[in-house]
Amino acid sequence: MGHALVWFRRDLRLADNPALKAALDAGLAPVPVYIHAPDEEAPWAPGAASHAWLHRSLLALDADLRARGSRLIIRQGDSLAEIEKLIAETKAEALHWNRLYEPASIARDTRIKQGLKSRGLHVESHNAALLVEPWTVQTGQGEPYRVFTPFWKNARQRLDATMPAGAPRRLPELPPMLAGLGVEDLRLEPQRPEPRWDAGFWEHWVPGEAGALELLDAFLDGAARGYKEQRNFPDRIATSKLSPHLHFGEISPRTIVARVLAQAWPAAVQPDIDHFLSELGWREFSHHLLFHFPHTAQENMNPRFREFRWARPDARLLAAWQRGRTGVPIVDAGMRELWHTGWMHNRTRMVVASFLTKNLRYHWKHGAQWFWDTLVDADLANNTQGWQWTAGTGADAAPYFRIFNPVAQAEKFDAAGKYVRRWVPELAKLPDAALSAPWEHADLLRRLAPDYPPKPIVDLKASREAALEAYSGPKTKPPAER
Ligand SMILES: Cc1cc2nc3c(=O)[nH]c(=O)nc-3n(C[C@H](O)[C@H](O)[C@H](O)COP(=O)(O)OP(=O)(O)OC[C@H]3O[C@@H](n4cnc5c(N)ncnc54)[C@H](O)[C@@H]3O)c2cc1C
Repeated sequence: MGHALVWFRRDLRLADNPALKAALDAGLAPVPVYIHAPDEEAPWAPGAASHAWLHRSLLALDADLRARGSRLIIRQGDSLAEIEKLIAETKAEALHWNRLYEPASIARDTRIKQGLKSRGLHVESHNAALLVEPWTVQTGQGEPYRVFTPFWKNARQRLDATMPAGAPRRLPELPPMLAGLGVEDLRLEPQRPEPRWDAGFWEHWVPGEAGALELLDAFLDGAARGYKEQRNFPDRIATSKLSPHLHFGEISPRTIVARVLAQAWPAAVQPDIDHFLSELGWREFSHHLLFHFPHTAQENMNPRFREFRWARPDARLLAAWQRGRTGVPIVDAGMRELWHTGWMHNRTRMVVASFLTKNLRYHWKHGAQWFWDTLVDADLANNTQGWQWTAGTGADAAPYFRIFNPVAQAEKFDAAGKYVRRWVPELAKLPDAALSAPWEHADLLRRLAPDYPPKPIVDLKASREAALEAYSGPKTKPPAER
């Protein structure tokens, strides 16, 4: 039996893996390969939290392969050079991979495909990550979409309810001499002494395909009902928490959609289901935007912001935001949730991003970079879109006058203060009424939470007015509803 290399990247699963399936369908023995080459993704090489996740995800993939008679061959270094070595070692006749959509990965993959094809190897890429390929959805004028609602109206019609292929039961054994590195050799985990900064992550997450399927089952059995409303409340388990699993390809969006569409939902739950599908639609839209406008990972999507007067960051204030010491409880709770779990609720992502880009008026890239290093679901398409949307610089962005008022947000979405008390425990003794704006209760704050900042690092009202003034220059169009 001949061999085919199956180059795993961010498709760390065996079910609905078109590259793996293509090798098997061609009657070739798949050689599962992972090549660690983070520099090839520069300037957005994966951050520390992503690497901590990847360590566990690779271990899970290797275990799943071994359970089926195969194993993961891990190499490190220049991807093309390593692939060429593996072709020589295995006499592989073909190379299969699933596509990535970030500009650096596209450039690398194109180079590799052209180089190897010209030498007669069968090289084929597949779609494992998206419901609709970015180049297959376009406006009536043949342009890429810049607005979510018509994009999703178009893309949604193409959703396929067919359940994708499951994981193969058995896989051919690899040649015994074929060797690779161990996952530990990649030194993806934090190397500093105990206590490790990722220690808290693993109370919340089980990286790998099995962990992803478990979360999907739990969501469909539970939080899917009521999702549309409940998803806004950061203190509840009301969303799927599938984002890191989707990012690493431990589950396919097709599998999620097929499972959702296969279930007979009561009419009252249908709006929840539609809303959940539309959030997967935002993920598709982000990838659509990044594919068609690759410069937006670095630059404003809306050119009217080219001359915008961002404030020069003050290192102390930026650090206060990063560490959750701004003196604004809902902002600090979000930033600490991120630090402790590697994830932050979508509502608080919008609140902390608005605080950074509107109240502090720092360029969204400062926030995007911090998220990039600390999120386990850090994803170039979604992160870029999330930051540009909140900053008002994006394609289909919040308008400049939408400045999240963190006090009102806390009163509306964390009225009982459960979220703030959980992540900012030094405020736990304050009464509910003082939790959203504790600086207005100076005596209580001094007495009950002496370690918490006595007032916000920036005056919320004055900074809001200054932002409105600065933003009113490069006006943006009205947004899609969020
Ligand atoms: C400033 C900012 C930065 C963000 N950075 C990222 C990021 O790096 N990676 C990331 O995956 N998401 C990012 N998001 C989007 C969103 O916050 C997360 O996808 C969501 O909170 C993940 O939780 P969940 O899996 O429980 O979502 P659910 O509500 O269960 O949604 C299901 C899936 O839909 C997708 N999704 C949901 N909301 C969005 C959205 N607004 N945009 C794009 N896709 C979405 C995700 O893949 C998610 O797993 C960002 C949002 C903001 C405002």
